[in-house]
Amino acid sequence: MTGEFQLIREFFMASEWPPHVLLGVGDDGALLQTDATQALVVVTDTSLANRHFPAAANPFDIGYRALAVNLSDIAAMGARPKWMLLNLTLPDVDRNWLRSFSAGLHTLAKEHDVSLVGGDTTRGELAITITVIGEVTKSNALLRSGARVGDQIAVTGELGLAAAALKLWRAQQAIPDELHRAWLRPHAQLQAGQLLGGIASAAIDISDGLAADLGHLLRASDVGAHLDMDVLPVNPLLAEYFPGEENKLMLGGDDYQLCFTFAATHREDIARRLAEAGIGFSVCGEIRGTSAGYLVTMNGQLQDGFSLAGFDHFGEVNEG
Ligand code: ADP
Ligand code: MG
Repeated sequence: MTGEFQLIREFFMASEWPPHVLLGVGDDGALLQTDATQALVVVTDTSLANRHFPAAANPFDIGYRALAVNLSDIAAMGARPKWMLLNLTLPDVDRNWLRSFSAGLHTLAKEHDVSLVGGDTTRGELAITITVIGEVTKSNALLRSGARVGDQIAVTGELGLAAAALKLWRAQQAIPDELHRAWLRPHAQLQAGQLLGGIASAAIDISDGLAADLGHLLRASDVGAHLDMDVLPVNPLLAEYFPGEENKLMLGGDDYQLCFTFAATHREDIARRLAEAGIGFSVCGEIRGTSAGYLVTMNGQLQDGFSLAGFDHFGEVNEG
């Protein structure tokens, strides 16, 4: 267990919740019962300047991305987003910056009919915290904890594009549009999440990286797995810019694709639903018992999945 999650467990994890809290801390969002069949899904994510995005990035992208990463957690729960709160910390009042930032935020909000219903505004280093509230039919909610031995593992879209853009940005090199968009205008997989609700056995969105986030799903489901990185499609730009580092980038995080599991009997149904919606996905592994551990095939070699670490804000708490 890495530092960030250790802190949450130590200081912020309740031992029990009242019955209307169907799911508290530990999944992509909380699941709160509102009536017999429906539940609210509540997610929140903070975006910090120079940690999650460059402070000098286009403010339109900053606003867009801050909402997109929250919508990604809503997607991972199989829910529909409805309302949001915006907590904004600004170093100063720059109306041009705010005009562009709010345009980015509102553009994405409008696309998904999400209403901004509140928030808070303070002065300090640039930080954006968004909370999104969505709805889901209880029986269609996608949890991290539903994977069963024998289930298939799949992932939507392509991985590694955002990590490649970040690497180019750090090296102060020009970033191709496709990589730049994946990094600062991620597309939350809301439609995929809603189509998978009630069919997939478990899901998580990929923010920390596929190996790390699948690891979270395995822990929540108390199962092991074999993940085969070698069957995943590799975007040609990864091979062009970083030959030999494709796999590393594909585990790098910030992809905001969905990793999900499903019983093999649902494979055709899932393939048909996603194909009809034009959503690409790849089957890339199988759920096994805990005794099998978490194994990842990469470049033909087997590795331990739990040691292929993703991003942890407080990793040094453990490592130091
Ligand atoms: P995600 O990457 O899906 O946004 P995180 O890794 O940030 O999820 O968080 C894991 C879980 O811990 C989530 O259920 C989140 O709501 C919860 N969590 C994170 N920080 C806190 C905190 N300070 N207090 C309570 N719960 C927290
Ligand atoms: Mg998530």
